[in-house]
Parts: sequence; structure tokens; C-alpha cells
Amino acid sequence: MKYDYLIVGSGLFGATFAHLAQKRGKKCLVIDKRPNLGGNIYCEKKYGINVHKYGAHIFHTSNQKVWEFVNALVPFNRYTNCPVALYQGRLYNLPFNMNTFYQMWGVTTPAQANEKIEQQRKEAKQAMISAGVDTPRNLEEQALTLVGRDIYETLIKGYTEKQWGRPCSELPAFIIRRLPVRMIYDNNYFNDTYQGIPIGGYNKLTEALLKDIECRTNVDFFEKGREYWESQAHKIVFTGCIDEFYSYCYGKLQYRTVRFEEEYHPIANLQGNAVVNYTEKAIPWTRIIEHKHFESFGAELEENPHTIISKEFSTEWTEGSEPFYPVNDTTNNQLADKYRARANQEKNIIFGGRLAEYKYYDMAPVIESVLNHPEINKLS
Ligand SMILES: Cc1cc2nc3c(=O)[nH]c(=O)nc-3n(C[C@H](O)[C@H](O)[C@H](O)COP(=O)(O)OP(=O)(O)OC[C@H]3O[C@@H](n4cnc5c(N)ncnc54)[C@H](O)[C@@H]3O)c2cc1C
Repeated sequence: MKYDYLIVGSGLFGATFAHLAQKRGKKCLVIDKRPNLGGNIYCEKKYGINVHKYGAHIFHTSNQKVWEFVNALVPFNRYTNCPVALYQGRLYNLPFNMNTFYQMWGVTTPAQANEKIEQQRKEAKQAMISAGVDTPRNLEEQALTLVGRDIYETLIKGYTEKQWGRPCSELPAFIIRRLPVRMIYDNNYFNDTYQGIPIGGYNKLTEALLKDIECRTNVDFFEKGREYWESQAHKIVFTGCIDEFYSYCYGKLQYRTVRFEEEYHPIANLQGNAVVNYTEKAIPWTRIIEHKHFESFGAELEENPHTIISKEFSTEWTEGSEPFYPVNDTTNNQLADKYRARANQEKNIIFGGRLAEYKYYDMAPVIESVLNHPEINKLS
């Protein structure tokens, strides 16, 4: 008997789709070319620590429906993301808030902090006027006019140049539209109502989503190809790369990627925080993640005498590396539109998730997109 849905990719889009379709009585088969399920949220357990294999993932949302949906599958812990930045041996709290301003200038009131920022913004605007420029021509001028020289040079410049592999003076201004400054002492990175990590790790969420669903790993859709899989299922949900689906007929879409260097240290607590950003150019990595801080707190942290860290290096995407972040410039967006137009003509193929839509998606919006998907609503 044919499957109702063949789901290509077991990441959050594919797994949530399979979960909801199966609950509505549909027979699903999930395949993934990787040796494990879960897509980018997959974690590897080492020394009792869940190591986020494809980059640190912090769940955050203000959507109550999504929060209740995931918590009904696995309860979430109270992890709150409070990254710090290290610049020339000094630590600064992020996002930019009163703690940061105190660390930078010794100011203690919002009025004093505002005065500092406004004075430096004015200087940046004045410099532009002297150069005969009225709107920022690049990311450097944009950042300087938004937050002034001290914050830009200490916390933005080096980090952004490592992320994009180019000087800020050569990057387009639109990359940074806003640089929010918080005039309160609040290091909570996200503004969302809810955040956390599934208790026991992200694999628990994947396991709950895919419970009782047939899954096959190490299976690449393209090995047997579309015709074969169409003979096996009435419909296909495709969450892989859209350009690959159409054999790159209009050309290849570009991505940026991150290379991870994992290190083991025989110590309970190496950096005291899950996320430390390295904002100076001379240090080649952008961040160090210490994975155990996502899930162990208080005395529990010291009970495990081991730790694992990942250094993150932002790099250009090349054949064979992970396609992480779409490059949403005009050329790539136009190319993606051509593929999308072709995908819209399909009757029995549903394209969803970050690779098939060529769109950066956080986890909660991916789940939301499946909860609200017309194909799922049709089954309800
Ligand atoms: C480095 C990084 C850090 C992130 N951090 C956060 C964060 O902190 N918070 C947050 O909310 N979001 C974060 N995200 C976003 C999050 O990873 C995505 O929202 C989520 O992965 C999207 O799920 P998906 O199913 O669309 O894609 P994926 O998780 O990528 O799943 C796609 C799956 O399809 C499989 N596949 C592809 N092609 C084929 C094929 N031909 N045959 C078979 N299988 C195939 C892949 O192997 C993969 O398992 C981060 C993303 C990255 C890249």
C-alpha cells in the first residue's frame, strides 16, 4: 500500500509535518540523508552533555500555540540566553543594555548612557556631512550613526567582519537596519515571552514528534529520484534544497556556513556561560559555545567534571559543506523566485522549511508554518 506522504528531511519542518499528518490518520514515511534524525537540532551526547552538532540552538517564541505544542511533547527548561562579548580581555554584556554601558563608560543612569550615545552619533553624522554624504553608504557608516564609535568598534566591527569575511566599509548598510539599545539592566537576549531548551535535549523533541512513524536514515531522495518516490507515496513533502530538486536548472543558490571546532576539557566549567562572542578581528572564531550550560544549572554543573566547547568559524559555503544561511541578496532572491515559481506549479509536492523555501527560519516559526499549513488544515 502506498504511503500518504513521503517526507524528505527529518528536521523540524518534516518531523512536525509527519507528526500532525499521522495524528490525522495518514501513513507517513520519513527519509533523511544524514545518519541521524532531527536535522539541525540534532545533538550528540558526550560525557553526559548534549552537544549541539549543527550549531547552538535556543528555542524562543512569543507564540503561545507553538510553545504549548512543543511543551506537550517534552517539557522545556528555564535556560535564558545571556551572551557576553569578549574584546581585548574585557567582558561586555549583550544585548547592548545598561550593564554594557556601565562596563564601557562607567555610566550608571540611562540619562548618562543616552548622552554618551547621542554625542557619538552626532560625531558620526557630522563626519558624514563633512564628507558630503547624507545617507550611510555602508555598514560601518550605518552602525556609527546608530550607536556611535565605542559600541561599533568594541562590539560590532570585528564580529561582523568575521561573519561576512569582508570589511564593514565594504558591506551594504541594509544588513543592519536597527541596533536596539536597552536602557535597563537586562541581559536577556531575546524579547520573546517564552524561551528554553527541551529537558533531556533536542533529540527528545525529535523522538516525540516522530514516535511511531516509519523513518529511514542514510537515504538520499536523489539516489532513487522523484519517479521512484512518487510510486511509493501519494504526496511528497520536500525539505531539502529547492535548487537541487530541480537539478540546479537555473543555477546554484548561495549560502554562508559555519565550521565548528569541538574541544573536550577535563574541567567542570570552562567559560561560565553558554555563549561568549569574540568581537575582535585578531581572534579567528566568532563565538565559543560551552554546551553544558544549556541544560545544567547550579550545583549540577559542578557534578560533571567534563565539558565540551565548540569554536565557531564563519566561512563561505563550498560544495560539500552545510548550507546554513541563505544569502538573501538580489541575485540569489531572484534565482530563488524562479525556483519558487516552478515549485508552485507542482500538484503533489509540498516544499517547506529553510532549504526548500530558501529562507532563514528560527525553530518556532518553522513549527508555526507547519501548524498553519493549508495541507495540514485540509486534513483536520
Ligand atoms: C548554525 C545555526 C544555528 C541556529 N540557531 C538557532 C537558534 O538558536 N534558535 C532558533 O530558533 N533557530 C536556530 N536556527 C534555525 C533552525 O536550525 C531551523 O529553524 C530549523 O533547522 C529548520 O528546520 P528544517 O526542517 O527547515 O531544516 P533542517 O533542520 O535543516 O532539516 C532538513 C533535513 O533535510 C535533510 N535533507 C536535505 N536534503 C535531503 C535529501 N536529498 N534526501 C534526504 N534528506 C535530505 C537534511 O539532512 C536535514 O536533516 C539555527 C540555524 C543554524 C544554521
